[in-house]
Amino acid sequence: MKQKTITLSQKEMPKQWYNILADMKLNPPLDKDGNPIGPEALSKIFPMNLIEQEVSTQRWIDIPEEVLEVLSIWRPSPITRAYNLEKALDTPAKIYIKNENVSPPGSHKPNTAVAQAYYNKEFGIKKMVTETGAGQWGSALAFATQQFGIELKVFMVRVSFDQKPYRKTMMKVWGADCFSSPSNETEFGRKILKEMPDTPGSLGIAISEAIETTLEDKEGKTRYALGSVLNHVMMHQTIIGLETKKQLAKINEYPDVIIGCAGGGSNFAGLSFPYICDKMNGKKIDIYAVEPTACPTLTKAPFAYDFGDAEGLTPLLAMYSLGHNFMPPPVHAGGLRYHGMAPTVSQLVVNGLVIPDSIGQLETFEAGILFARTEGIIPAPETNHAIAKVIREAKKAKEEGKEKTILFNFSGHGLIDLSSYESYLNDSLKYYELSDDVIAKSEEILKQYPTPKKKPQYKNK
Ligand SMILES: *Cc1c(COP(=O)(O)O)cnc(C)c1O
Repeated sequence: MKQKTITLSQKEMPKQWYNILADMKLNPPLDKDGNPIGPEALSKIFPMNLIEQEVSTQRWIDIPEEVLEVLSIWRPSPITRAYNLEKALDTPAKIYIKNENVSPPGSHKPNTAVAQAYYNKEFGIKKMVTETGAGQWGSALAFATQQFGIELKVFMVRVSFDQKPYRKTMMKVWGADCFSSPSNETEFGRKILKEMPDTPGSLGIAISEAIETTLEDKEGKTRYALGSVLNHVMMHQTIIGLETKKQLAKINEYPDVIIGCAGGGSNFAGLSFPYICDKMNGKKIDIYAVEPTACPTLTKAPFAYDFGDAEGLTPLLAMYSLGHNFMPPPVHAGGLRYHGMAPTVSQLVVNGLVIPDSIGQLETFEAGILFARTEGIIPAPETNHAIAKVIREAKKAKEEGKEKTILFNFSGHGLIDLSSYESYLNDSLKYYELSDDVIAKSEEILKQYPTPKKKPQYKNK
């Protein structure tokens, strides 16, 4: 029997996260008026220990024992060689799957949810609040807070709350309170309900409700949490790439091509950042971040200062952005519909170390179905973007007659997104591409904010 799966023992789990800010620099976050902000500005929203991580430039940060214990429920995650997919594509390329769907909520998101719940608990926080779109982040944080005995309140965008009931049920099973947003729980929610009783809701409204709920606790025992975009979130995810390096070293492999789908950037960062460190030191690897043509942040949007949320409550971050008011078309990859992109991932594109690409949803579902029929697992619609790019690269390797090693992040399974497969199989799924007009409009709006330096920024170089 050929070796299909490469595992690590629990003793071999990485004990530190890799912080890429030791090796690169970012344009600093700014307040609304364009002044640099200090860590204190966020202290009512996030606990100070996580804010310290957010601004740290220390290369390696120890993973606390209590975090490792919870991660060990499913980590180290396996790597699988996609022999059947390779055969179906008749490609000389070797394809390796780093499989993040084995976590209890079914995606990479609990890697940071567990760490965030732990640091909140360490800081004396009793209750966390967050928002969720399709429910992947909400369910990951519900699992994590339940492990550490912290209360959780989730504001879930109404349209998903009504149409995707199962992730809401997962949150309840793990002990969280989940409200349809706009809700009657907050002043902002009540105001919106009065003005627009039939609104489907939006992430922006849900974020505002979550932040209002956080700030309302006069005893200061409540904090907010974000599942992607921020530096500390990217860092918590690097356990993915650090495990992968150990696993591939066991079979004397090193990737030529690395691929991840990118919404806010966290699963892509988790797999690729430890390799980007090698690339900065001269290794030759092609590293691709793949997004939907319907929400082409890295491939078409300007690199600009913009808010992380729709209401303008966060600091201004230097990133590729379609504008914080951007309403993406209703594609099924809910996790890839964010208007911006992590400042770290954005800066790495500016630095020429990450190559962005975009793929339409029909091609991604076709890829997902081929994957399910060869390798068995039904991928999340987000993950299908990475798989579609893997297939493009494997076909290219065949044309060029090259035996490339392709590695990708299988960010999650699609068992709670089967309605999207149903639409694909019924031929009711559409191709969306953003028009240049929409992008020009975003550019126009973003001109009112300061312009970030758009040149490579390295540390000590
Ligand atoms: C949330 C999610 C994504 C997108 O988020 P990133 O921060 O870009 O990783 C991708 N895949 C799955 C399965 C997700 O749940």
